[in-house]
Amino acid sequence: MAAAGNAFSGERALVLLSGGQDSATCLAWALARFAAVETVGFDYGQRHRIELDWRLSFLETLRREFPDWRERLFADHLIDLSVLGEISDTALTRERAIELRENGLPSSFVPGRNLLFFTFAAALGYRVGARHLVGGMCETDYSGYPDCRDDSLKALQATLSLGMDHKFVIHTPLMWRDKAATWALAQDLGGEKLVELIRDGTISCYLGSSESRHPWGRGCGACPACALRASGWERFTAGQRG
Ligand code: ZN
Repeated sequence: MAAAGNAFSGERALVLLSGGQDSATCLAWALARFAAVETVGFDYGQRHRIELDWRLSFLETLRREFPDWRERLFADHLIDLSVLGEISDTALTRERAIELRENGLPSSFVPGRNLLFFTFAAALGYRVGARHLVGGMCETDYSGYPDCRDDSLKALQATLSLGMDHKFVIHTPLMWRDKAATWALAQDLGGEKLVELIRDGTISCYLGSSESRHPWGRGCGACPACALRASGWERFTAGQRG
């Protein structure tokens, strides 16, 4: 994906914000680069719909704690994609176990999800004048979802730009970062205060479990998303100590 730099600094970006660690870090990344930033979330009938509440409280705290960024942070949008939940038979949209399927993909894979997210984000970005679309997809430390791959998103960037005759840029700042490096990026962008806000104010758990508090934040502690988050935090804090 194209690197954001000074060339884009006067422009508007739209960040896909789910309420989890990765997209929250991407929002900070965008706020450090773009003159104006808007956010978009998707309600697709996910079992962990609790993340939709967390994203609102995360935005509220971010605005309060980071006044420099508040000036650049504009509208938040929520798009109803419940039709995706209706047609998907997956562990994120039905009461199903998270397990490996015969095709080698986990049952938590929601076919088409990120493709639809970016397509709707582009349609919204077209309207609000944001050609930069930012998402937390990553193929370094991930669940093997094909729509998180760099190649998939490069192809989508070309398709959206051609299909809307509008030059979109899809930014995925976490693509080649593992979860420990994602925490380190948050630290670089907003110091300890941002690390703590992301740790305590975001939820990545596939089951949307927020009762248990761990050193790395809240979650069931057992699902693949919690396991990735926990091991990344462990490596990040070990690096801090070392
Ligand atoms: Zn979990």
